[in-house]
Amino acid sequence: MISPVLPTYARAPLSFVEGAGPWLTTETGERYLDLGGGIAVTALGHANPRLVAALERQARRLWHTSNLYRIPNQEKLAQLLVDNSFADTAFFTNSGTEAMECAVKMARKYHHARGNPERNRVVTIEGSFHGRTMGMIAAAGGDKLTRGFAPLLEGFDRVPFGDIGALRAAIGPATAAIAVEPILGEGGIKAFGPEALREMRALCDEAGILLIFDEIQCGMGRTGRLWAHEWAGIAPDIMAVAKGIGGGFPLGACLATEDAASGMTAGTHGSTYGGNPLGCAVGAEVLTVMLEDGFLDNVRRTAGRLRQGLEGLVASHPQVFESIRGEGLMLGLVCRPANGDVVQAGYGQHLLLVPAAENVVRILPPLNLTDAEIDEGLARLERTALAVEAAPA
Ligand SMILES: *Cc1c(COP(=O)(O)O)cnc(C)c1O
Repeated sequence: MISPVLPTYARAPLSFVEGAGPWLTTETGERYLDLGGGIAVTALGHANPRLVAALERQARRLWHTSNLYRIPNQEKLAQLLVDNSFADTAFFTNSGTEAMECAVKMARKYHHARGNPERNRVVTIEGSFHGRTMGMIAAAGGDKLTRGFAPLLEGFDRVPFGDIGALRAAIGPATAAIAVEPILGEGGIKAFGPEALREMRALCDEAGILLIFDEIQCGMGRTGRLWAHEWAGIAPDIMAVAKGIGGGFPLGACLATEDAASGMTAGTHGSTYGGNPLGCAVGAEVLTVMLEDGFLDNVRRTAGRLRQGLEGLVASHPQVFESIRGEGLMLGLVCRPANGDVVQAGYGQHLLLVPAAENVVRILPPLNLTDAEIDEGLARLERTALAVEAAPA
């Protein structure tokens, strides 16, 4: 018999009722160290007192008015984003995939408004993940995402990861934009690297098309800079943000330059809940915390400590871990045994890890992890590796 909750997830038999920082507590009072961060979402840890206060304050005053009216928290968050990114404007959503939907609509509209409606295709990267709407499964492609859901939305051309020649060749007179995760998350923590991102920027400029970055997973401070693309010294025209921006409250945003957004006039796009007072109160507090002096410095320092520990772990357990990849606090361990077995062994050590493609386990902890918490995480990873090695093959 089907469960009352649609069984679309292969869930672990764990349920948590409380959290604090990187810790989660089960119904029976067992504590787990959460190095997955709810898939890069709880960027400031669980039940962060400042986020709780921001949400509570707003919850007592006003929940919803709709986008028929101005929403002060939305304007405040938009201003913070604009002041701290390449962007001039932001559209708010409830999720990452909606932010990407907005990005693709915006890119098509941009060319349409310029009298080039034939420029409506978007080049994407094989193995990417942009969410689960009809549009974004078509964008990413891939059998796992799309099987059984045809007919798929037209207008996406996919090229292999890391092949700039193929990317160049895929751009034609019908191309509106290229859309890329600077670091593939679900795809296995694969970073393009600064040179490739700069080449993408140049290709888009040459062709007169828009560069869309999906920083839903790699943005919001995760690489030690607010945006992952900053490391490459270039900027996109449009960027999707979500996950960490709400710290656990559903919130996303599509950021854009004034030029890229020029087709998105009144009535062209909307969302009932997008940019609601609650989400934007939390989002503004998340950004305020991340922009405080030393926060991102500390992310970089913390990431260095974690990475060093992980290098040691990989070196001492070559039968379990093949290599480490990623940037900042967006890290992946390439496993030798099935990554699911490693995640499972982690549960045995009360440690939460997140699987990804290419047999990777992801480490996406809160960005404000303390040194003691990092060391605790490394100790649990070490015990996880020992448990995997001890398991009968
Ligand atoms: C999680 C994710 C999405 C989808 O976000 P949802 O909030 O689940 O819709 C899109 N792109 C990337 C890179 C992601 O990591």
